[in-house]
Amino acid sequence: MDGNILDDTPFTINPAGFTIHSAIHEVRPDAHCVIHLHTNETIAVATQKEGLLPLSQYSMFSLPSLSYHAYEGLAVNAAERKRLQDDLGNTNHMLLVNHGGLTLGPTVGDAFMRFYDLQRACEVQLMLQSAGKENVAVPQSIQDNIFAQANIVHSGATGGQKAWPSLLRKAWRLDPSFME
Ligand SMILES: [Zn+2]
Repeated sequence: MDGNILDDTPFTINPAGFTIHSAIHEVRPDAHCVIHLHTNETIAVATQKEGLLPLSQYSMFSLPSLSYHAYEGLAVNAAERKRLQDDLGNTNHMLLVNHGGLTLGPTVGDAFMRFYDLQRACEVQLMLQSAGKENVAVPQSIQDNIFAQANIVHSGATGGQKAWPSLLRKAWRLDPSFME
């Protein structure tokens, strides 16, 4: 947790990556996996003032448990850890303004599915905005119902337990050398 390398390895750590991941592992024992990516779409939506909008079913999976973290430069400042932890709270999805996305979960599959849903939600939002037409947002009453159902998501049942093994089988078929 202090960034000290314990094993005999030729590799070093990425200080900014360590700041972000260790901050989350410190306060979220349920987060056995934390995924943080700089996809163009999560950077773009994170940086929009309104953030993620209720425009697709994919956004419904992220919005009930979504937080934001303001940009502070490269995350090498230990003081940012506390602000990151406070911003995250008990949410499972985070948009880092000017920076990217982050999800977590009790398994790799859960964290992956959360990022997959967040990524697709951001892609659809940007497509809709690029089209320049008026959009139909998901009505609040339907959002509220989904928010109630989201307790299922919060308990970790993201679908990752089905999707992740199937993705691994696909990766095996494509090129098993990824396991080496
Ligand atoms: Zn980053």
